[in-house]
Amino acid sequence: MKIVHNMSPSHKSRSWKRRAVVTPGGTNKLRFTREKKDFAHCPSCGQMLHGVAIEGSASEKRTNRPFGGQLCSSCMRAVLRQESENTGVIEPGREAIKIAGHDAGEHVKIIKVEGKFAVVESRKKQRRVNVKHLEPL
Ligand SMILES: [Zn+2]
Repeated sequence: MKIVHNMSPSHKSRSWKRRAVVTPGGTNKLRFTREKKDFAHCPSCGQMLHGVAIEGSASEKRTNRPFGGQLCSSCMRAVLRQESENTGVIEPGREAIKIAGHDAGEHVKIIKVEGKFAVVESRKKQRRVNVKHLEPL
């Protein structure tokens, strides 16, 4: 198959995939396509990262939390939990670390516990958070 080489200099880069096609007029031409980019994956568990665009601005390529766009949420929690002493007791007066959400990694003080939720103080503001999103220090 004879290929007509009428490529522009910018297409000479080997980052372009080349495909020979026969046009409707019968001439043989090269078509240039870029290889499709893959989704970002978590380096420690290999899982696909959710909420992360393949292309776009920096804020589109990360989620708004520590390690956003780097680690998946469960691996991020594992990293943040290393600071904890793994006592597992959530009670008023204790210090805790947030392990989920945009404010993950923040140190909070537990004011009171109401069933599944705890009222915590962080940055001089009181917030109601799920106890599953807290790890006692
Ligand atoms: Zn992971």
